[in-house]
Amino acid sequence: MYNVKSSRATEFIDHQEILDTLEYAQKNKSNDELLLQIINKAKECKGLSHREAAVLMECESEEYNRQIEELAKQIKEKFYGKRIVMFAPLYLSNYCVNGCVYCPYHLKGSSIRRKKLSQKEICKEVIALQDMGHKRLALETGEDPINSPIEYVLESIKTIYGIKHKNGAIRRVNVNIAATSEENYKKLKDAGIGTYILFQETYHKENYQKLHPTGPKHDYDYHTEAMDRAMQAGIEDVGIGVLFGLHKHSYDLTALLMHAEHLEAVFGVGPHTISVPRIRAAANINPKDFEYAVRDDVFAKIVAIIRIAVPYTGMIISTREDEQTRKHVLDLGISQISGASSTSVGGYAKKERAEDNSAQFEVIDNRTLDEIVNWLFGLGYVPSFCTACYRQGRTGDRFMTMVKNGQIANICQANSLITLREYLDDYASETTKINGEKVISEQLKHIPNPKIREKAEAYLQQIDKGERDFRF
Ligand code: SF4
Ligand code: SF4
Repeated sequence: MYNVKSSRATEFIDHQEILDTLEYAQKNKSNDELLLQIINKAKECKGLSHREAAVLMECESEEYNRQIEELAKQIKEKFYGKRIVMFAPLYLSNYCVNGCVYCPYHLKGSSIRRKKLSQKEICKEVIALQDMGHKRLALETGEDPINSPIEYVLESIKTIYGIKHKNGAIRRVNVNIAATSEENYKKLKDAGIGTYILFQETYHKENYQKLHPTGPKHDYDYHTEAMDRAMQAGIEDVGIGVLFGLHKHSYDLTALLMHAEHLEAVFGVGPHTISVPRIRAAANINPKDFEYAVRDDVFAKIVAIIRIAVPYTGMIISTREDEQTRKHVLDLGISQISGASSTSVGGYAKKERAEDNSAQFEVIDNRTLDEIVNWLFGLGYVPSFCTACYRQGRTGDRFMTMVKNGQIANICQANSLITLREYLDDYASETTKINGEKVISEQLKHIPNPKIREKAEAYLQQIDKGERDFRF
């Protein structure tokens, strides 16, 4: 039985509720009165229920779909302005005891070279990332109690935070590791992680179990209830996501929104971020083998629907997507992108030879961070290297309240310009620097609060004199 507040996975992600929702959406996809009512509700920027979102997802009317897209753009602008937060993944180890059929790191993946970074190698990776200008990382590792136990992850986090190279620093480490115990989540919290990220892959239990035939990840309930354990353990910012293409997108989108509703209902705060990866080619993995692969136009609509259904949440896209797709979905709702990513273990400090391939998936967008930053300027965006909220204790409901009432705009805008200034001074090419200067002087005007604007101007001058790490 569906129960949004239940602690059981099969009750807060109730299969029958999803089927009923999809049937309701099919029946109502041409119901003008209902569609208008839902779109009008979405305009209030307070979000939509999973049922309402499902109706919009099924709607085939060109006119309504245009309105949905337009609304997603407006909501994105209202909550995030022109800011796009930059991050990079860091792969620690690709040993994995699971059998996920869509991932080359699975236990039997024989064409992959197994690697685990030593603390010394982590230092080299982090210095390479700092030298690009990155301040925010997402740690990735396969699940393997012997090769990458929690102690290894904790030690690595400590190493990463401890590296200060020239003006570089990693100021926020988000962690994407396998579902674990409440006790381990407490340890991650104490290590000072930013967001704990875990993708559900697919919410369809039967399909999930087939796609994860072996290993601890086979346990659907334990995996699906992971965010509850993480939040019980005191991690206030969690990031959810689906690997689109593993099951019907309408099913997974509905369940993803039910998961967000569940976290909000139980903990008073929904997901900090939602990621939208799509199945991608990798060693021995061909996306064409997956019957539910999602077309570009459908993918863009999914992003738009999530944006209007959960307006307060950050949305993340990786370098799995090409430049064109990234451009389109940035408008529709994405607020964080990775740049110059390596999905190999040790791939930043040293480029891998083809025969040593240790990558989890193919990177489609291969541009440098400098090229991406400059590209964002050209599109009218402000790349941000900000990590301020978690460091200022603005997490969980304190953060969400500020997002929901729009107060975050003041500090976000100021922080983005301060951190961009640091990037331009320390890492940018001449062209990027010139373009960035223009963006900063133009965007300063858009800090709504005059006192914060004044202070931001003062910080910018201090940064030019060599000082670093200011934040609101
Ligand atoms: Fe292991 Fe994660 Fe790959 Fe599954 S998706 S095989 S858990 S690394
Ligand atoms: Fe994110 Fe907070 Fe920085 Fe805004 S101010 S970019 S919400 S960390």
